[in-house]
Amino acid sequence: MGREVRRVPLDFDWPLNKVWDGYLMPDRFTETPCADCKNGYSPHAQNLHDLWYGYLPFNPESTGSTPLRPDTPTVRALAEQHITTAPEFYGTGETAIVCEAQRIAELFNGLWCHHLSQDDVDALVAAGRLYSFTHTWNREHGWQKIEPPVVPTAAQVNEWSLRGMGHDGINASVAVQARCEREGFPLECPSCHGYGSAEAYAGQRAEAEAWEPTEPPTGDGWQLWTTANEGAPISPVFASADELASWMSDPARGTAWVPPATAAAFIADGWAPSFVSTAETGVVSGVEWMGHHTTSGDAGDDA
Ligand SMILES: [Zn+2]
Repeated sequence: MGREVRRVPLDFDWPLNKVWDGYLMPDRFTETPCADCKNGYSPHAQNLHDLWYGYLPFNPESTGSTPLRPDTPTVRALAEQHITTAPEFYGTGETAIVCEAQRIAELFNGLWCHHLSQDDVDALVAAGRLYSFTHTWNREHGWQKIEPPVVPTAAQVNEWSLRGMGHDGINASVAVQARCEREGFPLECPSCHGYGSAEAYAGQRAEAEAWEPTEPPTGDGWQLWTTANEGAPISPVFASADELASWMSDPARGTAWVPPATAAAFIADGWAPSFVSTAETGVVSGVEWMGHHTTSGDAGDDA
């Protein structure tokens, strides 16, 4: 993200704040959604994905896992936590705890992600997941592999997944892929080979890959652009650098105003980050910061 000065034709009239068309992938490269899948998975993989998230009925015994009960310690502890956090919602006392524990147990029993088999866990470890079991972390050395290597049990991982963040989407895809392989099913949708979409015309994908953005035309004009998103003009086109500097330092621009010397220095340099935070000045516009450094010559004091 930043601002930059562009030299464009004097009659360049692209709308302000609208991303330059040449930077955007044209609509003609939009593919046709695959009729046979949602996101590139084979039917078997899609079923597994849905079991992971509980979109299809799941039975813990199908992976050899033990169903959770209201008196399972982690479930009970979670229920107590919920009730302490929001007694006005859950009520209080033993009845409220048991009721909430029942709800949690039923909910979590319906998700494969809380009932992995040992094969699932082994696949996750092999894929470099579950670092909190297999690695230690400290500020000095970061993540360090535990030696000899540790492979957590399914019970340990399933208990862990009930607390905190648990598994992410990458773990889901690793588990789905490994289980497809073990069970002898393809991972990818045979119709679209995993793309989730098909070419709307022959050669479309190759064309899209070969596509390159085109720059706006160049000319004698001066214009301020934002580089946020892909890039868009944010000032009128001026005939001279001085006029652009005057526009940038026009008090009518309110918080976007910058001192004239700063604007001139910025145009000379051509680029500044949008916002810069310094201990000295707080958050300032990148243009202002750039000018500050350029004019006072104290670049390098931010270490
Ligand atoms: Zn498909």
